[in-house]
Amino acid sequence: MEVKYDWLPVGLNRPGTPLQAVGLAVHETATPGATDENESRYFHNADRQASAHCFVDWDSVTWLIPENEVAWHAGATANHRFISMEICHATTPGQFAAVWDNACAVARDICTRHGWGPDRMWSHARISRVFGETDHTDPEGYFKEFGKTMDDFIRDTFNGSSINGGDDGMLIMATDSKGWVWAVHLGIRTKYHLSPPMWTLYKSAGVKDVGKVPDSLLANFKTVTE
Ligand SMILES: [Zn+2]
Repeated sequence: MEVKYDWLPVGLNRPGTPLQAVGLAVHETATPGATDENESRYFHNADRQASAHCFVDWDSVTWLIPENEVAWHAGATANHRFISMEICHATTPGQFAAVWDNACAVARDICTRHGWGPDRMWSHARISRVFGETDHTDPEGYFKEFGKTMDDFIRDTFNGSSINGGDDGMLIMATDSKGWVWAVHLGIRTKYHLSPPMWTLYKSAGVKDVGKVPDSLLANFKTVTE
């Protein structure tokens, strides 16, 4: 797979804001047949009020924004925490197989370099569910079109590791009297309402129940359901 760097000028779909990423956001372009070169041209040609760090297609990957700068792909919270990879939309099964392998390779490279486990790679759909700032559900529909799921993508990227098998990104968790689970997840203060089986799953993945969340962490928690 060819790797190309076609940096956007700062100011054109590239804010130039520093980013210390804690995870990788996985998107799909929703433009069937468009290549990474097509996407690069699109973002170089005009102010789109959107962007991504890289685009992967069936024979190459093009980087538009450096990993240590913010791109506009998934809402304010996620944009300031995630590197973004856009998977180009294949039109044939053969093309899909090629872009799948390439996207897994790019994701593996990014996660390996940053020391991230399977739970640091989030679909845009998961970002929408957790932060509620966007309503996109990509790349789930695209994967489904070719008989795949986000879990398949994570497994193939991490050579067989399951979603809960690695670094969970959870720093602290606790249940309160009403059954809410409190957490700091990916550096973001979050209040989860997890079902007992889900909580058991997290615990089995090594997340510790600390019993009580310090008051200092309770301020400004986001309330989400996952
Ligand atoms: Zn997306």
